[in-house]
Amino acid sequence: MTDTPRPSDAVRALDRSLSADLDHLRAEGLYHALRVLESPQGHEVTIAGKRLINLSSNNYLGLNTHPRLVEAAVEGARKWGAGTGAVRTIAGTQSVHEELEVRLAAFKRTEAALVFQSGYTVNVGVLSALLEEGDVVVSDKLNHASIIDGIRLTKADRILYEHCDLDDAERALVQAQAKGYRRILLVTDGVFSMDGDIAPLPGLVERAEHHGAAVMVDDAHATGVLGDHGRGTTDHFGLHGRVALNIGTLSKAVGVVGGYVAASRTVRDYLIQRARPFLFSSSHPPAVALSCIAAIDVLESEPELIERLWQNTRHFKQGLSELGFDTGASQTPITPVMCGEAAIATQLSDLLMERGVFAQAIGFPTVPLGKARVRTIVTATHTGDELDRALDAFADAGHRLGLLRG
Ligand SMILES: *Cc1c(COP(=O)(O)O)cnc(C)c1O
Repeated sequence: MTDTPRPSDAVRALDRSLSADLDHLRAEGLYHALRVLESPQGHEVTIAGKRLINLSSNNYLGLNTHPRLVEAAVEGARKWGAGTGAVRTIAGTQSVHEELEVRLAAFKRTEAALVFQSGYTVNVGVLSALLEEGDVVVSDKLNHASIIDGIRLTKADRILYEHCDLDDAERALVQAQAKGYRRILLVTDGVFSMDGDIAPLPGLVERAEHHGAAVMVDDAHATGVLGDHGRGTTDHFGLHGRVALNIGTLSKAVGVVGGYVAASRTVRDYLIQRARPFLFSSSHPPAVALSCIAAIDVLESEPELIERLWQNTRHFKQGLSELGFDTGASQTPITPVMCGEAAIATQLSDLLMERGVFAQAIGFPTVPLGKARVRTIVTATHTGDELDRALDAFADAGHRLGLLRG
């Protein structure tokens, strides 16, 4: 091993300044240590040499290790190489990238789709490209950080509404319409990632239509989970044709990596010209596109995976609520176990880990102060026995921390 060269004064001065900020985060209990998995992502994982039941991933259907996806990735790399060496608009679009987009559009029942590097970049890219000065975005207060960051990059005005509150969304839309903006875009998560509740999409779409607004739904946590074969909230509520922009990620239930927007051909064409992450960041390795195509094949041909996901979800939720835990407003496989203070959530997560369960504590700023929680996500691949053992661990740990009601 070679020694690291001695840092200059300027390099050390930066480290000293950053260290002071890090100390502050530690003092506030907001410091994240990375948990390193020594195994594939799965219903069980190995951390620090210990096998744990894993309730911390977004890998809803276990597709990341599905033989058809793995085979597609291996074959794809052999046939097409490891990387593309270019951005999409220069030389980084291969036929497999476009094939994936055609498949996504058909899956989402839209005219077209465009793939980005991640769900984060699709939100940032779409919002910053579509909205300019003279436009306005109407946004749920609890929308995902990538939506918030996308909004920050536009010169458009923004009006926030209370979480999932149709009356307040209407107030925001009336205010937007009265000001005569050029474009009004209402943006919501389809399923909210920290609470697991579903956006009241029919009411939002109706009100948006009434006030001249287009709707954008981020179905990162709904694709592969809700709707026919996992088509998402637009399908779940029968709103095809009425949601202008269907955002999704290929990194959660789809099991690979990437993000996309399913929309009209015009939107796709416009984003190719203007979305900065699309223009200035290289395209996916072809193996990524091919394994995502295999994932769509699986979604279309193995609906029993989604059935199992929901069976497991019902079993686990019922178990937690019978034990007396507060699981908030969840309606989906995302089930928060509410703890209040961040220190309690961390203690619960630690006690669970000692008892063989990996469930991460989540605190401010990811969730509001005083609403810290341990967030759980069951998957289609958990066995009933694993879920029962996890419930036993929750019972024991929750009892020790005084978290059980009644
Ligand atoms: C996870 C998530 C994203 C980001 O997706 P990545 O593919 O991980 O970048 C965007 N929006 C929502 C609502 C999410 O939950």
